[in-house]
Amino acid sequence: MRWIFSLFFFFSFHTAFCVTPSQSLKQLIEGNWRYTHNKSSHADHSSVRRKTLLKKQEPFAVILGCSDSRVAPEIIFDQGLGDLFIVRVAGNVDGATELDSIEYAVKYLGSPLVLVLGHEGCGAVNAVMEGNTADIEDVAELIRPAIHGAKTLEEAVKENVRWTVESLKKTPILKKLIREKKISCLGAYYHLDTGKVELLDKKKDLDFSRSH
Ligand SMILES: [Zn+2]
Repeated sequence: MRWIFSLFFFFSFHTAFCVTPSQSLKQLIEGNWRYTHNKSSHADHSSVRRKTLLKKQEPFAVILGCSDSRVAPEIIFDQGLGDLFIVRVAGNVDGATELDSIEYAVKYLGSPLVLVLGHEGCGAVNAVMEGNTADIEDVAELIRPAIHGAKTLEEAVKENVRWTVESLKKTPILKKLIREKKISCLGAYYHLDTGKVELLDKKKDLDFSRSH
């Protein structure tokens, strides 16, 4: 079975990187600004756009976000079909299947930015803080070491995001692409009330000089 996937990856292989990590981040920030200012453009969901995506997709960012229904990436970043490659799981953790998905996007679809997105009032992180994890033990196992010592839920969510970012950066495929300045991996926190996405590591490894 594995060879079929290898073949698929081979024929779909391209690392286009049509936009830089900083251009990708700018698009997300601008989209979130439109969303928070009630100026959402209802980004392209048209049949024309659908048809242009029949042959290939080139999402300009990967979002590793929580499954929480209030944190839908296409909406909060005001993006359309084919724009974002989204991996959603309770507590935005990077288990083995999430990592496979992220690696696929950066390696084969040329997505230049991986954004780990935690959020205010995260039930999964809260459950771990309260030791109430019987129903989410697989997710809890990944969150628990990240939030050790955090005193508030907000602090714990942010620590979980930072932990996940650092863990992703150490994986071979992402590490190589970051070293080559083809991608960036950043963390962010979504405020349920204002809708604003706050970047957690503004000063880190964005390459603003690279352009096409
Ligand atoms: Zn959550």
